[in-house]
Formats: sequence, structure tokens, C-alpha cells
Amino acid sequence: MIIVVSSKSKSDELKGLFNYIESHNVQIKQTIGETHTILGLVGDTVKIDMDAISTFPVVESVKRVQEPYKLVNRKFHEIDTVIDIGGFKIGGGNFSVIAGPCSVESHDQILEIARGVKQAGAGILRGGAFKPRSSPYAFQGLEGTGLMLLSEAKAATGMPLVSEVMSTDDIALFDDVDVIQVGARNMQNFRLLKELGKLDKPILLKRGLANTIEEWLMSAEYIMAGGNEKVILCERGIRTFETATRNTLDVSAIPIIKKLSHLPIIVDPSHSAGMSHLVEPLSLAAIAAGADGLIIEVHNNPQKALCDGAQSLNIPQFNALNAKIDKLVAFMKSL
Ligand code: PEP
Ligand code: MN
Repeated sequence: MIIVVSSKSKSDELKGLFNYIESHNVQIKQTIGETHTILGLVGDTVKIDMDAISTFPVVESVKRVQEPYKLVNRKFHEIDTVIDIGGFKIGGGNFSVIAGPCSVESHDQILEIARGVKQAGAGILRGGAFKPRSSPYAFQGLEGTGLMLLSEAKAATGMPLVSEVMSTDDIALFDDVDVIQVGARNMQNFRLLKELGKLDKPILLKRGLANTIEEWLMSAEYIMAGGNEKVILCERGIRTFETATRNTLDVSAIPIIKKLSHLPIIVDPSHSAGMSHLVEPLSLAAIAAGADGLIIEVHNNPQKALCDGAQSLNIPQFNALNAKIDKLVAFMKSL
């Protein structure tokens, strides 16, 4: 952190600022110029509040040079984090595909899709039981029953499960779920993130609809600060001025996250696009940009889906895409 103060500041005016800084166990390196003095703070400044520094009248400006996150930061953890989900790995050169419906709708629906996507090569099954819908009149998910049906699909196929939690009240119901998803709308639900930080279970943290990469990493930091190091980031498209797609896939987030963090990053081309014909090109773009996995919505009958049918692939379409995914992942490894 760098603080600029006026060179005309009196020593008693500076004293309060110095005391405040030194109470955080960091050192101050002073460079005295003609008009301004620069204070370079050396040490761990993560817990220093820039706003509090700005309240000292002698301070002209303050700038952070170190990222505000630590546990997710690659600078303090050079090696890629690898997350094991029932034998399927994500991160550190390992690629996995998660597939399944937006929502669990019935026993037969989830079983048919689970069997279909498994046969097509997906390792992990997704399915929403608690759905964050924009309209209170839209299908809200089967909730606890949906989780039970997912468990039946897991028992029948052996596939580990990914499902979204929306409230701290429901976490106890997710015992048999292998990866708990935090949806885009809950990326900054800090109480939820803190509770998930207490678990020993991977958390799939989707990027918020209009959140910066730094805000997203700070949310991951919340989970890690609670002691849960198993965080998978998921880029799912962000809100932009463009209306031709449901969201705009931020492909550049993939290499940026890789540079800033050791956490794995996967891509959700379905919510990025909002249209099934875009799922293939966006999936392939994500792999080429270095993603560690994909989460793709697949339905046995997209026309009849209770949620997100327009962006869902049917099982034969997913099968064809997965063959291309395998080839491109192998090609990327060969480069
Ligand atoms: C979902 O995965 O079905 C979902 C609601 O995703 P998002 O939170 O990214 O909108
Ligand atoms: Mn969906």
C-alpha cells in the first residue's frame, strides 16, 4: 500500500497515522520529496482498511499495490489447486465435464438424463433442486424432493452430484451432494459464503451477474477464510450492453484468474449464451482459453423443460459435443 501525504504535514499530524499503520504490524518506508512524502507500507496489508487511512486529514491519496485477497492469491500459493470430486479431478491440468438439467423435475427425467450424460462421457451430474427464478410464479424447483431424486440418480449411476444451495437454512439437506453450487445471484451472500467455509466439501462459486474479477475472488476468499480450501470458480457470463446473448461470456476471465489465483476455473456456456446453438462454440473457446472444466445444461426433452430449455442441449447433441471436447482437451495438452 502506498500513502501520499503532504511534505508540509507536521510531525504531530503524522503521528496518529503512523500509530494506526504500525498497529497492523507493517513497516513504513518514507520517501520525502519536495512537495509530497510517500509512505510505502511493507508487510501484510490485507487487513488495513483504505477508507480508514483516508480519514486522516494528512492523507492526500492511498493506493493498494497488493491484492486485497491472500488465501486465493497465487503469489502465496504457486501450485494449482486440484479438486477431486469422487475421482474426477478439476484443476492442475485435469479437466472434467459436469452435465445435467437446469432443474430436477421428476424421477424419470433425472435418471434418463444422468444415464444419457454418463454414457456420453460426463463425469459429474448437475441438477438444481432450489432454483433462483426471476419470477416468483416460475417453477421454483422440487427442493428437498429434488435432492432426494438426485441421490437416487447418484445411486443408480455412481455419478457425483453438483447442486445449488440458496440459503444457509438448507445446507444440512446437502449431505449427499458432492459439490455445492453458489449461484450468480448469491455470489455476495456473505453469510452463506461464511457457512460454506465451515464445510469440508467443494464449493462451485459462480461469478455474479455484474461482478468484477476482484469481487469474485474476494467471495472465494470468504469461503477459504472459513477453512474450506476447496473452491472451484465458474465463469457464467456477465451482464453487458449486448442483448444478442443472455449474458456475455468473459473469456478473458479464464487466463486472468489463472494468473491471479491457484483455484481452478470452469465455464458454464449454457447460462453465458442462453441459446443451445452457442453452447458448442463457447465450450470450445473456454477450453482453448485454459478452462479446467465445463458445466453444461442437458435435458432429455428441452422443449418441455421447466427451466432454461432454450439453452439446454438434448442428449444426442451433448454426446456429439463431448466427443469434440475430448479431442480439444487432448490437443491442448499436446501443445
Ligand atoms: C444454474 O446453474 O442453473 C443457475 C441458476 O446458474 P446462475 O447462478 O449462473 O444463473
Ligand atoms: Mn439454469
